Amino acid sequence: MPEGQKIRVNGDGSLHVPDNPIIPYIEGDGIGPDIWKATQNVIDSAVSKFFKGSKSISWKQILAGEKAQKEVETPLPEETVKSIREYRVAIKGPLTTPVGGGIRSLNVALRHALDLYACVRPVEYFDGVPSPMKHPEKLNIVIFRENSEDVYAGIEWQAKSHDAIKLIGFLNDNLDCKLSEDAAIGIKPMTEAASKRLMRMALKHAIEKKAKSVTIVHKGNIMKFTEGAFKTWCYELACDEFGTKTVTEDDLWKNYGGKQPQGCIVIRDRIADAMFQQLLLRPDEYDVLVTPNLNGDYLSDAAAAQVGGLGIAPGGNIGDGIAVFEATHGTAPKYAGLDKVNPSSLLLSGCMMLEYIGWGGVSDLIKKSIRETIRQKKVTYDLERMMPGATLLKCSEFGKAIVSNMSSRA
Ligand code: NAP
Repeated sequence: MPEGQKIRVNGDGSLHVPDNPIIPYIEGDGIGPDIWKATQNVIDSAVSKFFKGSKSISWKQILAGEKAQKEVETPLPEETVKSIREYRVAIKGPLTTPVGGGIRSLNVALRHALDLYACVRPVEYFDGVPSPMKHPEKLNIVIFRENSEDVYAGIEWQAKSHDAIKLIGFLNDNLDCKLSEDAAIGIKPMTEAASKRLMRMALKHAIEKKAKSVTIVHKGNIMKFTEGAFKTWCYELACDEFGTKTVTEDDLWKNYGGKQPQGCIVIRDRIADAMFQQLLLRPDEYDVLVTPNLNGDYLSDAAAAQVGGLGIAPGGNIGDGIAVFEATHGTAPKYAGLDKVNPSSLLLSGCMMLEYIGWGGVSDLIKKSIRETIRQKKVTYDLERMMPGATLLKCSEFGKAIVSNMSSRA
């Protein structure tokens, strides 16, 4: 048992974080151990430097994936889920999804078990990172993607299966559908409660960060009762719970001549396909996006590509008073154990975690140092191959370079 204390949740939902919080981590499979080692070293050094030794993190290893399968013969032990629930905040490397065995994905299983209903993906540019865009620095957004419903509910039936035929029969006989008997069928559930809690989290973030707008991204022009309802519910939540702090885009033009009232966030919506164009053509007009599951899945990766790809894109899965931060890429098995890959995705997820527990200064220190290291063109293979004149570093060396570039304060 590591020394340290548990993070607790106060009555108002905020976190009480002790000076020496216990934070569980899942090392991950494939390249997981390499990127975790580098990440832990950077976070520990930054915490020590920023707080001058008065605070530290007590890391507690918990098992999932191949390591868990080997040691306790199950890829997602109940003990792991229990630990995260108990300690509130955790960080994880990528996990191999076991083939067969009834588990679709360990990540999805974790999100469901802990009700981590928002997948939060900040997308910002680090100067010098190779990008396909002329002005990648113009994109600086946070995407809040619904994590529990929509296609992630995973309710579907194989074409021509007994259950698919039964369901098609029911739909055709009772609900006036005209489905072909050999269709594959999927269900897309979306609820008011889940849509509203996501919008609430996004709006709280927008208010805290003094964002200018929150954009609801949906495909409600086609899927009126699911995606269209998502849009309506998000607007309702903004009006009912944040009415004094928000103004809709329509109202902005009707009542304020298009001029944003001081301290008010503009709530607007965009159709998902148009949103992809907007992020390419007018990226600096957006800051917080709220989206159902599938739109958000595509949009997060596309946006990450604009600023240099998934290798440096962080992510967090967040519920009420509970959060798991994770690298957004997979286990890249061909590089496992080679001390080669870029640890930035996990490290920046660690930065999100530090901000979540109120240690934003430490996160700033790490990010500043990552920027400096990339500016010096000291990078891992993935960036080095696209940066003329760069110095190739191993995963661990990149971590050490970040540590040595840390100044005493952010
Ligand atoms: P992947 O592991 O993300 O790797 C695909 C490619 O992305 C790598 O070959 C490498 O490209 C690049 N890459 C990934 N991580 C990198 C890093 N840290 N630094 C530099 N480059 C990096 O995707 P995959 O091969 O499709 O998936 C492998 C396994 O991961 C599967 O079992 C999948 O289920 C799992 N997975 C897990 C998660 C998760 O746990 N969150 C997410 C996605 C996939 P180059 O070879 O071109 O350099």
